[in-house]
Amino acid sequence: MPVFHHPEFDHHQQIVFGSDEASGLRAIIAIHDTFRGPALGGLRIFPYASEEAALTDVLRLSRGMSYKSALAGLPLGGGKAVIIADPRRDKSPELLRAMGRLVESLGGRYVTAEDSGSSEADMQVIAEETAHVGGLRQADGESGDPSPFTAWGVFCALRSAVRHALGRPDLAGLRVAIQGVGHVGAHLARHLHAAGARLVLTDVDREALVHLAEELDAEAVPPEAIFDAEADVFAPCALGAVLDEGVVARLRARVVCGAANNQLATPAMAERLMARGILYTPDYVANAGGVWQRRDDYHRTAVMAHIEGIGATLDELFARAEREGRSPAAIADAMARERFGRG
Ligand code: NAD
Repeated sequence: MPVFHHPEFDHHQQIVFGSDEASGLRAIIAIHDTFRGPALGGLRIFPYASEEAALTDVLRLSRGMSYKSALAGLPLGGGKAVIIADPRRDKSPELLRAMGRLVESLGGRYVTAEDSGSSEADMQVIAEETAHVGGLRQADGESGDPSPFTAWGVFCALRSAVRHALGRPDLAGLRVAIQGVGHVGAHLARHLHAAGARLVLTDVDREALVHLAEELDAEAVPPEAIFDAEADVFAPCALGAVLDEGVVARLRARVVCGAANNQLATPAMAERLMARGILYTPDYVANAGGVWQRRDDYHRTAVMAHIEGIGATLDELFARAEREGRSPAAIADAMARERFGRG
């Protein structure tokens, strides 16, 4: 299994393989970059088909965290951890404590947090072994759920994109089509509704969809119909890789801005969107709000104010993309690398 020549290697500073016989732990921690600060990134627990698949995932995700934290303006680097295990079958307090000891052995260079397969309760167990855990329930009882913060960041991003692409200073009367009204999508819908936008919503969970549509006086459409919705903005808040050739050709919206990770099915889709005159808001910039919440040393109001900074970053990013005739996705990568000293 090549590491230094792995396609996703991108000069990771440190990659740690950890195991614990008693608990069955098999884990990898990847630290991509610590130029801006400790490498923060969630812990994914997943029954990877192979060690190669686990390595590829952790490298790709950890690199992504460097970009996200840099453009969010956080004093943090990028890292990620994976445990090769089935979270429903193999997760035990012993396994999590062994993981905590592995995190602790890095002396704070890596800070862990919740991700798919790991929960807030799991983080509490890990915290028995290490202080390097982000996004724990606060002393005031506030939950570690990042989605309200993520949604607020997407809302600020969307305001910037709409200003830039449509020249509209506010969102009153704007039509927004939201794909997925789960944790982030529902919060985003409420912000948009409060700002006077009109909403078209979809979700595969029909009950959640109908509920929210009634609450916000929104139109509910079947999942496939969301791409054809007569809307100014398309907000993907469900799955990754949603922007493929077919969807990009179908979209009627002039702006794409949503919470989903890895929205572009292939990097080439950034240019395809540009060619259609659709402004794409780079996903990892728009959805970075939740990363702020993982810092335990900030208070909620300060965090919300910092998250608003995503709008200012995007104002700069969109202006530069236009000036240089490049896609916002390409400019986002360039700006992030400049910010962690690899420009
Ligand atoms: P979630 O699971 O709570 O919500 C996703 C919603 O999408 C669900 O209601 C689900 O039923 C729906 N859905 C799934 N497939 C669909 C389809 N084909 N068509 C329409 N709806 C569909 O997840 P979330 O926490 O709201 O996150 C949404 C997206 O944002 C994910 O891609 C996630 O990776 C990304 N993200 C979330 C956060 C966060 O703070 N939660 C942070 C960064 C990125």
